[in-house]
Amino acid sequence: MTMTIRNLTRRFGQTEVLRGIDLTVEKGELVALLGPSGSGKTTLLRIISGLDWPDAGQLTVAGGDWLAKKAEERRTGFVFQHYALFPHMKVRDNIAFGLTVLPRDRRPPPVQIRARVAELLQFLQIPHLADRYPSELSGGQRQRVALGRALAIDPEVLLLDEPFGALDAQVRRDLRRWLREVHDATGTTTIFVTHDQEEAFELADRVVVMGAGQIEQIGRPDEIYDHPASPFTARFLGLTV
Ligand code: ADP
Repeated sequence: MTMTIRNLTRRFGQTEVLRGIDLTVEKGELVALLGPSGSGKTTLLRIISGLDWPDAGQLTVAGGDWLAKKAEERRTGFVFQHYALFPHMKVRDNIAFGLTVLPRDRRPPPVQIRARVAELLQFLQIPHLADRYPSELSGGQRQRVALGRALAIDPEVLLLDEPFGALDAQVRRDLRRWLREVHDATGTTTIFVTHDQEEAFELADRVVVMGAGQIEQIGRPDEIYDHPASPFTARFLGLTV
């Protein structure tokens, strides 16, 4: 679904954390929000998912006003850096979770939920993990499961907040390739937050460079590398203008 953000602002006390964000994410795109710590990336994701609210501005998805919807009325999938898997549930039940808590009129019958989970386990290449508990998984495996849980409801928008941030370099590289494959197969509109430029530039169709609550530049990775639009972008990427 196309997502359009217009002139979004968010203040915490005196601090303007988002200062007029304008961004359009096309249906099926994978966009990386790239910027240093404190630039407002997480705040923007929280507003999109309905965990936080802007002071002003618009947010529409497929033409519908998302600011008029509560978090549970928006079809978003969310993956955090620190695995929010339920420790007392097996992998299959973690993945099923989002479906089991849907309102009664939208909740599939148990047999369909089981089939959807089986399909996702195959698709994400983790069928062998189905009956394990999160404590029995590696960090990388947990994030694969977390993505399965986020995808189970077939979200309109998938939001990933530094999902690989806590993992070591090789696992990150493997997961990056895997995520790109999953994305290409599902075509889910995806926003990926990272402060790691290599990750953003390798994964994303377009990169959104953020600094101090505003967007410094939006473009394809090669466009940004070849033509950094501001001294901030150039400095942040370690380029010279
Ligand atoms: P990033 O994800 O780019 O690191 P954040 O969106 O987490 O940035 O934070 C941007 C700024 O907003 C930071 O200065 C942070 O301290 C501040 N901030 C975020 N959430 C709150 C909050 N609930 N109350 C006060 N300040 C906040």
